[in-house]
Amino acid sequence: MLKFDVITIFPDIFKGFVEESLLARGQAKKLIKINLHNLRKWANDKHQTVDDRPFGGGPGMVMKVEPIMKAVKAVSSKTSKKTKVILFSPRGKKFNQEMAKKWAKLDQVVFICGRYEGVDERVADYLADEVVSIGDYVLNGGEVAAMIVMEAVSRLVPGFIAKKESAEKFDHAQFTRPEQLVIGKKKISVPKVLLSGDHKKIEEWRDGHK
Ligand code: SAM
Repeated sequence: MLKFDVITIFPDIFKGFVEESLLARGQAKKLIKINLHNLRKWANDKHQTVDDRPFGGGPGMVMKVEPIMKAVKAVSSKTSKKTKVILFSPRGKKFNQEMAKKWAKLDQVVFICGRYEGVDERVADYLADEVVSIGDYVLNGGEVAAMIVMEAVSRLVPGFIAKKESAEKFDHAQFTRPEQLVIGKKKISVPKVLLSGDHKKIEEWRDGHK
């Protein structure tokens, strides 16, 4: 079973996501397990503070290193070496299918979701195994990034997707019924070759429409 441990200040953002559809089924089948951890649990004051002002000045707040350090220590597997700690940052390495394939073979992936103006750099330097971005744009936090990565990785866990070959296929263009459709003033038909029954021609057409 692949365990995801998500460290976040907004665990409720994940509720519908982990309780619906294939991720729910994957958990029921014990192929994956998603644990949500509220970082504030590891804050050391009564206000459960997890952020502070940046050294050197500047706008906004920065996530403190100590609560994250304690959280990572608490949730990381004590027995398996096949575990990775990922920090999300727009400055990180761009996530891709190759990374998803590698991570699907692990026992545990721990995600650190940043918020505010970002995370104390010591988390990237000393606590995370990898710093990962999901694209060249800036999000409010790492939670959506964690959902994207969990979904892409889960699909590659054996048994998660019923048809193994569709788990990582970048599909060609597809059509289903009806054969003809009126959109505005245009009458549109699906490509005739797909209705021909000629498998060789269909494959050729599909190769050209990826
Ligand atoms: N300037 C800050 C930085 O460079 O980290 C942006 C902080 S952003 C408002 C807050 C958090 O959202 C980041 O710490 C990171 O965890 C997450 N985040 C934002 N954009 C992201 C991206 N493209 N990929 C992954 N995580 C992202």
